Amino acid sequence: MPFYEKPWQTRCHVNAARHLISLVVLMMLAIWHVVPAQAADVDNIRLWAAPDHVRVVFDLSDEVESSVFKLDGPRRLVVDLKDTQLAFDPDDVDPGDSAIDALRTGRRNGDDLRVVFDLNRKIEPHHFLLPPTDQYGYRLVVDLDYPGEGALDEPVDPIAAMIRDQEMDAERELRQAEAEGRSPSAALAKRDSQAKPHPKRDIIVAVDPGHGGEDPGATGPSGTREKDVVLAIARKVKAHFDATPGFKAFLTRDSDYYVGLRKRTLLAREQKADFFVSVHADAVKSRGPTGSSVYALSKNGATSESARWLAETENRSDLIGGVDGNLDLSDKDEVLRGVLLDLTMTATMNDSLSVGGQVLDKLGRINHLHRSQVEQAGFVVLKSPDIPSLLVETGFISNPSEEKKLRSSAFQEQVADAIGDGIIAHFRHHPPPSSLLAWQRDQGRGGGPGEYRVQKGDTLSQVAARHDVTMLALKRANDLSGDILRVGQVLKIPHS
Ligand SMILES: [Zn+2]
Repeated sequence: MPFYEKPWQTRCHVNAARHLISLVVLMMLAIWHVVPAQAADVDNIRLWAAPDHVRVVFDLSDEVESSVFKLDGPRRLVVDLKDTQLAFDPDDVDPGDSAIDALRTGRRNGDDLRVVFDLNRKIEPHHFLLPPTDQYGYRLVVDLDYPGEGALDEPVDPIAAMIRDQEMDAERELRQAEAEGRSPSAALAKRDSQAKPHPKRDIIVAVDPGHGGEDPGATGPSGTREKDVVLAIARKVKAHFDATPGFKAFLTRDSDYYVGLRKRTLLAREQKADFFVSVHADAVKSRGPTGSSVYALSKNGATSESARWLAETENRSDLIGGVDGNLDLSDKDEVLRGVLLDLTMTATMNDSLSVGGQVLDKLGRINHLHRSQVEQAGFVVLKSPDIPSLLVETGFISNPSEEKKLRSSAFQEQVADAIGDGIIAHFRHHPPPSSLLAWQRDQGRGGGPGEYRVQKGDTLSQVAARHDVTMLALKRANDLSGDILRVGQVLKIPHS
């Protein structure tokens, strides 16, 4: 018989009377032995089920010494808390659809509390203690990770991801050539040669509903939680992209659990997203402010005091929601180096600002704008070196009428369409070379077969490479003496 199943153990369904008696006895003991009253309480146990783990949060009245270990046959996870007592009914804990079947509690060594979780699958535990915040006191967070399972089951589009990966490599090479003062034509030719036959890939968008799990985000005057409305809006944004040919979207979370800020961008990188958009709802102490605003990353401080304040507020999520204890950041620190990255980052931020302008324009048609320009500040969630990223504050949940709007499915739909259409408008103007949108644009460009209309930014070598002909053949076919092209000029494309 496993050692923990001893008579000291009480089952979950401690009735209130027994609980009270044991409390009284404990108190009497404390008086008799003049033990310093240092015992901590477990005020609650909250549970958040994610696809790749379940997070168990112990709300504690004080800092507690703990040990966490697993046992086999049958599978269990044991959490021992030194000098701690239960101050709530563990029967109220609903393990939901997770690795946990049930939990049991018991006393140990007189004053210690033991919590045993019965498990239905293999897990890998991680735990950490979080210090008090405005919302919570001390919390012991125990993550039960499911080995071999990612937060997203599989790439949303493995082929698009692969092509996008090659495209990003080529883009990096291009920037490196620019940085070193080399002619970019070789890199361009290499990039464009990947477009035959044209892959017509989908553009992948990461849609990130802010907060989640024990991090509710902002709360409205009638109790609306930011984490719930932004999930509803994000789902509609995803649906908008999925219904648009040439686009595919995925959610960084599709349920009520917390995802660490760095993990959100990591998911976007894993999926080779072309774009990342984080959806939030603003809140301030006063009920007055209303309207939508759009934020991009800044490298050199915030554009306004309120942008800085907001970035600090949103960045605090990890303190409330809890960081990913086992997230390895070493490889990304490696990436975050060098001139190359700096160039990529600048290009990425320019793209972010361009998309931001489009989104703001569309939002301005359906809602009051809190800020009429794309603001910039150091949001952690926007720090992806090569994925253009935006954070959209859809409205002020702290304003009673905007809170009401944010709850309505019709308004959520309008906001989602505005976000989606803004991003789509940008990509229609600047489609990645391998995308379906680029192919469609190229089809519509020429006067007919064998012709090509020169676009802004085109170079002779680029047009030649794209059509698989030599520069010389292209020049001959069009009687060109130099390498200069004019925007709008129609070129004859010779047979290769
Ligand atoms: Zn937020």
